[in-house]
Amino acid sequence: MAELEAVIGLEIHVQLATKTKMFCGCELSFGDEPNVHTCPVCLAHPGVLPVPNEQAIRYALQIGAALNCEIAPRSIFHRKNYFYPDSPKAYQISQYDIPICGAGRLGDVRIHRAHLEEDAAKMIHVGESGRIHGSGASLVDFNRGGTPLVEIVTEPDLRDAAEAAQWARLLRETIRQLGVSDVNMEEGSLRVDANVSVRPAGSEELGTKTELKNMNSFRFLQRGVEAELARQRELVESGGTVEQETLHFDPASGSLTSLRSKEEAHDYRYFPEPDLVPLVPSEEQLREARESLPELPVARIARYQEMGLAYDVALTLATDPRTAGYFENVVEAGEGIEPRVLANWVTGELAAALRQAEVDGGAADSRISPPDLAKLVRLVQEKKISHGSGKKVLAAMVKGGGDPEKIVEREGLAQMSDSGELEAIVEKAMADNPDAVEKIREGNNKAIGAIVGAVMRETKGRADGGEVNRLIQEKL
Ligand SMILES: [Zn+2]
Repeated sequence: MAELEAVIGLEIHVQLATKTKMFCGCELSFGDEPNVHTCPVCLAHPGVLPVPNEQAIRYALQIGAALNCEIAPRSIFHRKNYFYPDSPKAYQISQYDIPICGAGRLGDVRIHRAHLEEDAAKMIHVGESGRIHGSGASLVDFNRGGTPLVEIVTEPDLRDAAEAAQWARLLRETIRQLGVSDVNMEEGSLRVDANVSVRPAGSEELGTKTELKNMNSFRFLQRGVEAELARQRELVESGGTVEQETLHFDPASGSLTSLRSKEEAHDYRYFPEPDLVPLVPSEEQLREARESLPELPVARIARYQEMGLAYDVALTLATDPRTAGYFENVVEAGEGIEPRVLANWVTGELAAALRQAEVDGGAADSRISPPDLAKLVRLVQEKKISHGSGKKVLAAMVKGGGDPEKIVEREGLAQMSDSGELEAIVEKAMADNPDAVEKIREGNNKAIGAIVGAVMRETKGRADGGEVNRLIQEKL
């Protein structure tokens, strides 16, 4: 049998951080007493009329601009009918065949669409469940009901679970930097579903997909998709067929359970919402959405790669705007030093030193000013101190800030410039380690480490490793 290829698409619900709900004036606020932010509109009393939230439309247009989507000149709200206590109207106002944002792209993944809709109320299940005699009950908190959402649907362009999780992170960072949502997965302001299928590698046809619901962290997203892919591969390879269904992944046990067989669109009896006029964005709204975009992660990654940074370093910085700003200040202060080297100090040595010292926050919150970090890197680059001494100075700077040159002086870390002194130390180390010298002579180059180590102990790391190696070779 041909090898099976994974095909993954994502559906992401983003709660918009507007002050009020999508179709009424109720305040949006997470964590308040249940049912304090309600009104006749979001409780669906008879005769009320929805009024669209203009800020939510602006936010949706910004998301569309950031994802390079085609914006519909005229889009339509539909009623999506379903019967469940989290929806007092027995339908959700959503968009169907003409969403506000059409085809787009973020990085390597094509966007199918992004549309506006309202969130359902929150269900809370209490007590023991049981069909008739259980003491359990389901409670409904309508505070969340009617929260504006943008649902983003990708094309099935992702090919493995890790790639899906990484792309979802990029999307979250993009939306966070727009400032249109809190994108907090634990609080549910960003919810990710994955559509997963397999097909013979090289095939263009899509296999039957299952939908993994509501994974509340990127790690669970990756693990859930991995588990489902493994299940489908085993099923198909043993001659079975995948059933279309909705699944829940339990991160604690790693198991998948079926929630329901997946509904088809016609099950929802979509029809145009008669109480709302079509959504026609004005020229001014479209221009504002385009012009309001900050430099987004994808653009920042490209710019950093042009500066010579490796992709993963560029990605690390681009998804952390404050550290990225810090890095750019270091580059400005470190004229003449390759940005790649400075980036490695910021994301590597400095990040490690901050972790080691258990300092909260990133580089931008540290006691090390960008010019001081640039100065330290210059000392290492110009071989005034060794790389190891550079790390020691950095550790001191993390604790108390200060000028790296003064710390070098105070701690006596300057690289040994007197080659006569170093030569004597090398000679003594060789005399003290005759076995190692013998092994090097026999061609065992690893044995040189013992002598270099002895020299470094003697000089307290102030010697230049390259120079020590050269002297040893010279004296063999
Ligand atoms: Zn309301």
